[in-house]
Amino acid sequence: MTARVLVVDDVIQNVKLLEAKLTSEYFDVLTAMNGEEALKIIDEEHPDIILLDVMMPGMDGFEVCRRIRSNPKTAHIPVIMVTALDQAKDRVAGIEAGADDFLTKPVSDLPLFARVRSLARLKLLMDELRMRETTSQNFGINMGTDLNQNVNMRNAKVLLVEDYSRVAERISNYMADIAKIDVDAVETGEITAPNLDQYDLFIISLSLNETDGFRLCSQLRSSEITRKIPILVLVEEGEGNQMVKAMELGVSDYITRPVDKNELVARAKSQIRQNRYANSLRRNNQKSIQMAMTDSVTGLYNRHFLSTHLDNLMAKENDKRKKVSLLMMDLDKFKVVNDTYGHISGDEVLKEFADRVTNNIRNIDLAARFGGEEFVIVMPETNLEYARFVADRLCRAIADEPFVISGSETPIRVTVSIGLALAGDKNLSSSKLLVSADTALYKAKENGRNQVMSLD
Ligand SMILES: [Mg+2]
Repeated sequence: MTARVLVVDDVIQNVKLLEAKLTSEYFDVLTAMNGEEALKIIDEEHPDIILLDVMMPGMDGFEVCRRIRSNPKTAHIPVIMVTALDQAKDRVAGIEAGADDFLTKPVSDLPLFARVRSLARLKLLMDELRMRETTSQNFGINMGTDLNQNVNMRNAKVLLVEDYSRVAERISNYMADIAKIDVDAVETGEITAPNLDQYDLFIISLSLNETDGFRLCSQLRSSEITRKIPILVLVEEGEGNQMVKAMELGVSDYITRPVDKNELVARAKSQIRQNRYANSLRRNNQKSIQMAMTDSVTGLYNRHFLSTHLDNLMAKENDKRKKVSLLMMDLDKFKVVNDTYGHISGDEVLKEFADRVTNNIRNIDLAARFGGEEFVIVMPETNLEYARFVADRLCRAIADEPFVISGSETPIRVTVSIGLALAGDKNLSSSKLLVSADTALYKAKENGRNQVMSLD
């Protein structure tokens, strides 16, 4: 995976050194030698990752980082701060300014490549999610909040995997302000804490006595329910290989022992925030997709989705000369229901109708609201006989049991007329199939309603 990295440092030798290292690993490198220049390049070139020196004359790294974060167009770009050796205070200030990660000067290769790759992966995911978010906004679905600035950090839960009880206790105390922390001492050699999907973050020791921390990380990464939860590993000082191996397993971040409280809290917070941000983007995406596809009154698919789906289905089934049956349904004299009980009750009837339809079709059948009180069921690989059987059963499921709704003391009698059409050997287009079912529906209405008709 390649990424465009912007290197910002006021010392030309530092810029050249980082540029050479990153280029050797096939990253695309841009450079800037002061804050103003950096902001200009960020604005014009949209790098994927920014390596930012803290100590610079004029605008220092913290200020540059704050400006990157306060501009909605650049707020999502990962920033790695490059600090002088052992400046724990700088790290905390950096995280408060919005930095995602740190490197200590002189920058060694392993942590540099590990952190840049890890953030490049994260950026890729975020870009994908942000793009889908933009697509939904273009469809007119606006969630209305800048998620990145409104990540809710409350009720965070962290699982610490550490079998040395004194360390576990100390880390728990460090974390107490920002999260509820559970400790798993892996006495059986496995993580036994229940409901792993409840956690915002796993902190895993890589120096466990009885078991292999790498294996635990790898299991968390491969399990469906924990795959997306960030992992922060605790590595021994001077064990660069531990860290690289962990990063290769997909661990999100690491911290070197002895653990500094401020750094731990800052890194944990940053992971939890990023994860919650990604989750809310995912949820928003699902919600937008759902909103774009479904009818809000009945929860069935909407007409737009039905048309697309039907076109795709018929193209596919025509290939295989398979049969598609289609039911066009219309509630009989629904206007009377609306006029008598009002539209809210009318909507209740539509919802109840939709529920009964859903309960009477197979998983492969697709039900959609086509218009006001018109509904369609698409039945792939289904012949006319079976479709008629389902249609008759639906007629009875609607007519036999009056609808109980909140706006009326007595249950309302509802019936439905159904037109049936089959696209089989005739290579019908989806619009002709719909017209054909609609014509059959008209026949059912003319013939006295509450019945099923087809043209064949
Ligand atoms: Mg400097």
